[in-house]
Amino acid sequence: MADLEIEMEVSARLDIEVFVDCPHCGYMIDLLKEDETDGQNHNDEGYILAQACPSGLWIDEHEKFEVDEVTCTKCKTTFNVKGLEW
Ligand SMILES: [Zn+2]
Repeated sequence: MADLEIEMEVSARLDIEVFVDCPHCGYMIDLLKEDETDGQNHNDEGYILAQACPSGLWIDEHEKFEVDEVTCTKCKTTFNVKGLEW
């Protein structure tokens, strides 16, 4: 009996989460989730994803990562985000 070699192929799935800790209450916010940013969609027209997955050198581009006026769902503090680590 010959060994049956079955090649299976599936597509991969990329999950992206971009976290910040609220500077006031420490709540961990996923910038891509409106229900964690007080109902604000900060990824309008891919604004966050384009910065998170830039076409240039990520190490340089991520220093420029910027999202203004993020509001924490929990305590309603508004703050700016600058820089992205991963
Ligand atoms: Zn907060």
